[in-house]
Amino acid sequence: MMQKAAGLLKKYFGYPSFKSGQEQIIGSILQGRDTVGIMPTGGGKSICYQLPALLYGTTLVISPLISLMKDQVDDLRGHGITAAFINSSLDYRELSAVLAQARRGRYKLIYMAPERLESEQFTDMVKELDIQLLAVDEAHCISQWGHDFRPAYLSIAPFVKELKRRPVIAAFTATATTEVTRDMVNLLALDQPNVFVTGFDRANLFFAVINGAGKRDFVESYLAENRDKSGIIYAATRKDVDQIHTFLQQKGFAAGKYHAGMTAPERELSQEQFIYDEIRVMVATNAFGMGIDKSNVRYVIHYHMPKNLEAYYQEAGRAGRDDGPAECILLFSPQDVQIQRFLIESSTASPERRDSEYRKLQSMVDYCHTSRCLRGYILQYFGQSEAPENCAGCSNCSSDRELVDITMEAQKILSCVWRMREQFGVNMVASVLKGSRNKKVLRNGFDKLTSYGLLQDYPEKEIQHLIKVLIAEGYIGLTDGQYPVVRLLPGAAPVLKGEKRVFRQVRLKKSQPLLDQS
Ligand code: ADP
Repeated sequence: MMQKAAGLLKKYFGYPSFKSGQEQIIGSILQGRDTVGIMPTGGGKSICYQLPALLYGTTLVISPLISLMKDQVDDLRGHGITAAFINSSLDYRELSAVLAQARRGRYKLIYMAPERLESEQFTDMVKELDIQLLAVDEAHCISQWGHDFRPAYLSIAPFVKELKRRPVIAAFTATATTEVTRDMVNLLALDQPNVFVTGFDRANLFFAVINGAGKRDFVESYLAENRDKSGIIYAATRKDVDQIHTFLQQKGFAAGKYHAGMTAPERELSQEQFIYDEIRVMVATNAFGMGIDKSNVRYVIHYHMPKNLEAYYQEAGRAGRDDGPAECILLFSPQDVQIQRFLIESSTASPERRDSEYRKLQSMVDYCHTSRCLRGYILQYFGQSEAPENCAGCSNCSSDRELVDITMEAQKILSCVWRMREQFGVNMVASVLKGSRNKKVLRNGFDKLTSYGLLQDYPEKEIQHLIKVLIAEGYIGLTDGQYPVVRLLPGAAPVLKGEKRVFRQVRLKKSQPLLDQS
């Protein structure tokens, strides 16, 4: 069967081989299993249902993008595959003609907007068709946890029930959170689906996290070294964008800016200048980038930490679309976390949603503190199982790092958390270990604890950082909420008992450029 599929891939689409994950997904669909394919944008989802459609009778594709349907259908016809679309742009006569042809089994694929399923008159006509495969594109739209909930997707499962014969169902999305996947499986009423998460690795991207102050200095020297390259600097707010932009212009860089506070013509001009390389670096809020397909972006710098890894990976992923080497650098400072916590706290979301946002935020913060492979961390977060241990393509795997044993420090921190009865945040624990005489410490009598001042030789900032390293490595955890409290996790016990040693990576040569520029 797969041999046949590979033959069709070449014959109809002209590709010599499958992209990562396509083969497994197609194999699963051809075995008649309900299948979920989670692949990033550009990963090659379409082939995953278009190819099986050639081997099945008729495939119905639910797609939310009406504007793209005609292109997709034209594209398929160009490849010699019979296809049609049904959406609100057709008048009654055109619709009848398509349906008449469809009843005769004329089409391999029929694209349809989910909203059509909300009309009974319409589903009565469609359910007569012999649909063997139902492909649901952008399937995260079924979930309220996703970023664009479309209620019409909820009509898919009831519609399937009315069909004469239940088709195989294949659902596709680029959104990989567990909540969304669970909703897709439940709300589409999938039957023991195979779930594949694949294609998230971008081998040409180098990932780096830079902790601590000096963001401006970093950007200035980085840009000086990369003058002739295109790049994007993402900042959290319009004000930040304006300030960084002004700073860069003063320093003589060909910088443009983009945020929602600018007029539409201003934004358009800025975008064009960037696309046509008239300006090299674009300073922008997250409003920039949607639908922009510039292939030669060589770096994406995040001046502030974004709210979660989904947002980060999407923005960082705008680098290196041409598969050439590119760098994704996140400049981290603790204030970034406070800002994101504040934004979650002041949002109108439901308590469950907020908890979910806090958890995602914590994963983002952990990314900034982990000493594990950053690429591996990202891939594991998105659920891709074959994440590497050591990728040689991130700041944690590059060779200018050294492992330092911090077992003793870790034991002191963990026992201090325990003695403070797991009721305080990172800064308070650090203050106690430092032996600070601040009021809150004294008021709680923490100066009497045996842990008090145990790390007095370390700068308080360094102690805070060590605590965050332990959080990132899963020895301790933070509770959700605006004022998170440090708690011991099961992983702490072996360290406290002296059965496990703890290491962290430190950078040896601070001044060395991130990437070998040669
Ligand atoms: P997605 O829907 O996941 O964003 P597409 O299905 O549009 O991605 O595919 C992204 C690009 O990859 C398209 O240009 C497509 O032609 C190309 N592509 C898909 N499968 C293959 C393959 N096996 N070999 C080479 N290119 C492929």
